[in-house]
Amino acid sequence: MNVMPDIAEGIDSLIAWRRELHRRPELGLEVPETARVVADRLRSFGVDQVIEGVGGHGVVGVIDQGEGPTVALRADMDALPIMETSGLPYASEIPGRMHACGHDGHTTMLLGAARSLARRRQFHGRAVLVFQPGEETLEGAPAMLDDGVLDRFGIEVIYGMHNLPGGEVGTMRVPDGAALASSNRFTILIRGAGGHAALPQLCRNPIDVAAAIVVQLHQHFQRDVSPGIVLATTNVGAGAGVYNIIPDEARLEGSLRFLDPGIARSITVEMEELVTAVAADQGVTADLIVEPLCPVTRNHPIQAAYARDVAGRLMGVTAVTEGEPLMASEDFAFFLERRPGAFTFIGNGDTSPLHNSSYDFNDEILGLGASFWVRLVEEGGGIS
Ligand SMILES: [Zn+2]
Ligand SMILES: [Zn+2]
Repeated sequence: MNVMPDIAEGIDSLIAWRRELHRRPELGLEVPETARVVADRLRSFGVDQVIEGVGGHGVVGVIDQGEGPTVALRADMDALPIMETSGLPYASEIPGRMHACGHDGHTTMLLGAARSLARRRQFHGRAVLVFQPGEETLEGAPAMLDDGVLDRFGIEVIYGMHNLPGGEVGTMRVPDGAALASSNRFTILIRGAGGHAALPQLCRNPIDVAAAIVVQLHQHFQRDVSPGIVLATTNVGAGAGVYNIIPDEARLEGSLRFLDPGIARSITVEMEELVTAVAADQGVTADLIVEPLCPVTRNHPIQAAYARDVAGRLMGVTAVTEGEPLMASEDFAFFLERRPGAFTFIGNGDTSPLHNSSYDFNDEILGLGASFWVRLVEEGGGIS
């Protein structure tokens, strides 16, 4: 594991920055304090341009080395509405908020890379450091894109990185193609016929139909479909809070995720057929709505191969393509829809899982992640 010497020398400051961020988590698009800390640090490193307020509280730093490729590196800054139970000396000081996804570590690795890139200046072109808010809510990347981050800074290629609990320290994973799943919300509205609970034979109880639909959907998607699809019912709504009235309507809501964007249409059709058939069987009607929230995070093969090469050749890191597909989603997907690039995973060691109240980013990988970012830029950025 080859951490760059200047980064290894300055590792104490990276650990201190990470723990400072960990103490002060901010949520969603509202990350003003974190953004200010990031912008101040970038200026103190001698980064050539530091632009605040890109897509709300997004911050962009540019290190300009003249003619050459423009390579963007992206980190996320937001935390989660979770009460931390880690008991760490640097645990969250804000009750009900926690850096439980390691974005404190992601921000710190990119700050470490910025300091090194600005000091060394061993590349041609421009390094664009993108610090985004609102990843957990899938709003931050769209906000920065709407504010023109790609064109304003001439970004040609972009990379993202996420820590991976359970992944060995000193390993990385850079899939070809799908790195993370799409996220879609489904809603099913069942229209029955309500009435007195004493006379169910005169009613069409939508709750009975909802129950049948839930069971059948889960059986169908667990048994018959590939591991690249996940379906979970997460909300059920029916009734007015009284025990003796059968309601007219019931509503189901849930999450649908898949890795192959090509199957979006056929999954929706399958769900529609199943919902309509169950409803018809019980003499009621039901409608299905599927709303896409975030596309599949799809790596571009040239940049994915470049990232694996840099990790293996210069970092002495085992970087693999394969692994259990992660059915979580990332709004980095929106960047990869518009520019070539790759999303990478860095092993976080044997820690609690992401979004768990005792999770902590592993400071042991700060130097490796920061060095990987620097090398990605200094080797040319994988521009085809
Ligand atoms: Zn997360
Ligand atoms: Zn995350």
